[in-house]
Amino acid sequence: MERVRFAPSPTGPLHIGGLRTALFNYLYARKHNGVFILRVEDTDQNRYVEGSERYIQEALEWCGMVPDEGPYNGGEFGPYRQSERKSIYLEYIRVLLENEKAYYAFDSTEELSNARAWAEQKGHAFRYGAHNRLQFVNSLTLSNEEIEERKKGDYVIRLKVDPGPMVSVFDEIRGAVAVSTEELDDKILMKSDGMPTYHFANVVDDHLMQISCVIRGEEWLPSLPHHQLLYDAFQWQCPKFMHLPLILKPSGKGKLSKRDGEKEGFPVFPLQWKESIGYKEKGFLPESMVNYLALLGWNSGTEDELFSLAELEKRFSVSGVQKGGARFDYEKARWINHQHLQKKSSEDLLQFGEFQMALKDFTSAQQLMIVALIKERLYTLDDVYEEVRLFISPYPFDDKALEKILPKNPLLVLEEVQKVIASGVPAEALKEVLLEWATKQSLGVGVVMQSLRIALVGKLSGPDLFAIITVLGNSVSLRRIENAITYINLKQKS
Ligand code: GLU
Repeated sequence: MERVRFAPSPTGPLHIGGLRTALFNYLYARKHNGVFILRVEDTDQNRYVEGSERYIQEALEWCGMVPDEGPYNGGEFGPYRQSERKSIYLEYIRVLLENEKAYYAFDSTEELSNARAWAEQKGHAFRYGAHNRLQFVNSLTLSNEEIEERKKGDYVIRLKVDPGPMVSVFDEIRGAVAVSTEELDDKILMKSDGMPTYHFANVVDDHLMQISCVIRGEEWLPSLPHHQLLYDAFQWQCPKFMHLPLILKPSGKGKLSKRDGEKEGFPVFPLQWKESIGYKEKGFLPESMVNYLALLGWNSGTEDELFSLAELEKRFSVSGVQKGGARFDYEKARWINHQHLQKKSSEDLLQFGEFQMALKDFTSAQQLMIVALIKERLYTLDDVYEEVRLFISPYPFDDKALEKILPKNPLLVLEEVQKVIASGVPAEALKEVLLEWATKQSLGVGVVMQSLRIALVGKLSGPDLFAIITVLGNSVSLRRIENAITYINLKQKS
């Protein structure tokens, strides 16, 4: 049974990189009929942010990725918040201490910063490890009585990295990587506040929760040798590891950051967080979010790019995950959203608040007609109001466009349209009748259409003109034409 976990730290909102990690875990679980777990890694009390955990759960739910096990869904392997698993970590750190795979360290912050400064002065990076651990204040250098005495104060517990052969780790995407133990420090496993560090809690929990494949961002790859050493120290079998490629800035240079979104005007969070709006509020469908994120580092091996979550669950495969960074492309995300919007029926679209608000003053028949007319022009639900606006009111007129057609005598056209509509010609036949008349008058089709369009909707863009007349109905259309005639007359006088 494959078991995977998404293990965010509740240090703020989930950003799109984190959501992409969650998605790949979710897809892996579904593809293998496995279990998708949410584990909250909240052992760093200094970085804990209120509301963040709830936000993460809500973002997953919005995308349709409800965890099978987690703090909100329960499960047999809980608790699923690391802060509630303190006694478990104590039990396991004891095992490492007894087997001399870990040791107490009592060095003060000052002693450590002096040692760091000294190393840096000599031109190397400071590392607390096999080469210098006997120069520090720890249980390897003190007598038993001193250790007991020191344990009454502050201390940490460190992993004892023994010098020796290389540590080989295996990543499902990158293959084997070997790291020299000389490069590895004696990582802190338990902090002075009695909480485990990420590395320790992560390995203990992945083992106890029977995680079969660890899927996370590439930034955790450098930690893998330490994790491997911990598995070895416990004589536990390692899970598989899969480190997902970085998400790069739109320029392709460097890692995508929150600031890139602010600079270029795209959201970096799935849902609103404080004053930063998310993809949801920006008018993205959850299926588009999921579809776009899946393409950030994975491809189906075909030309296909549009998938629902259910399709992704079937099509996802580890072999389609790329090694190289994936460039973030907001325009592509919008295009994907546009495509998913096209797949929705008018009835489904009318369920969205954006449509309900914009169309509240129209009859249901009009609503259905308007949705059908503007659908293909929508990239996000945010565009709805702008597209509906012309049905609500033609004002303000686009004066620039109007000035351009004034010399072509739009009044002649509008007065003729008034006559034709009033004579009872139905909207479907209007076009033909007008064009016939235009030919007789030696008027270009352009003048007729542009004059009528400006009069009806105030600008030169928008859906099919005669469809607009059908939606508005004869009396509203006639009123708008009348008003436009008055406006043009005033304009010509001034
Ligand atoms: N808590 C880590 C994070 O916030 C999880 C890394 C992992 O999945 O091992 O990204």
